[in-house]
Amino acid sequence: MKYALVTGGSRGIGRAVCLRLAAMGYPVLINYHTNREAAEQTKLLVEAQGAAATLLPFDVANGEESDHALTSWQENHPDDTVAVLVNNAGIRQDSVMVFMKNEQWHSVVDTALNGFFYITRRLLKDMLTGRWGRIITVASLSGLKGLPGQVNYSAAKAALIGASKALAQEIGARRVTVNVVAPGFIETDMVKNLDEKSLKSMIPAGRFGKAEEVADLVGFLASEQAAYITGEVISINGGLYT
Ligand code: NAP
Repeated sequence: MKYALVTGGSRGIGRAVCLRLAAMGYPVLINYHTNREAAEQTKLLVEAQGAAATLLPFDVANGEESDHALTSWQENHPDDTVAVLVNNAGIRQDSVMVFMKNEQWHSVVDTALNGFFYITRRLLKDMLTGRWGRIITVASLSGLKGLPGQVNYSAAKAALIGASKALAQEIGARRVTVNVVAPGFIETDMVKNLDEKSLKSMIPAGRFGKAEEVADLVGFLASEQAAYITGEVISINGGLYT
């Protein structure tokens, strides 16, 4: 069986992606960090669509923990592979740089960038051997434009773009595509403390995006129809930045 793994699948964009990939017929591995209740809810929603869902909690920022969780899963599923990987887990720890603490820098970079490295490296071999795979990473408008107060987040997201472009070229011949989606403001827990009213006025579409809209884009990149798209960064931001 070919599975899809979504990191940070318990809430927000990750949850919507789990549901989208389940609708495409994938059994879904739902990774999360601490919020078991939300992850259980995602699992129920996936199962309500008639698809299989498994919770796979681990901290993507911790290489050993990630390896251990994925190795255990693979040992228990010798005939199964993860064919679609969505690197979605991410956090914000905003501060202007002059006051940014080491911990704020490291936690954001470790979660987004090191998480991408640990999980993608671990799952790549099977995709290359199977000569089919989809690696889709959720970056951000911050990684393209840079946003003040988010030097850490912007750096991590920009690095994901560079890493994905390089990897796409390494493995393109094996029918494994590597792409990035770069959302603007999307209605999730991550942005709930932002001033939506004033930010909305800067967005040509006049609203924040929905997690389901990002999930539809991820679903397309995961599909067979997207086989010739690789090394791309696709913005989904209501026209905020092009
Ligand atoms: P969210 O609602 O805050 O959800 C974050 C998800 O990441 C949760 O499932 C969380 O798990 C998981 N996570 C955080 N740290 C983790 C770790 N160390 N290990 C494993 N999982 C971890 O955020 P969201 O808005 O859906 O964001 C999803 C992605 O989109 C992030 O990469 C974010 O940077 C990106 N993004 C979001 C927006 C936006 O406007 N919302 C815009 C651009 C990009 P728990 O539930 O266990 O905490």
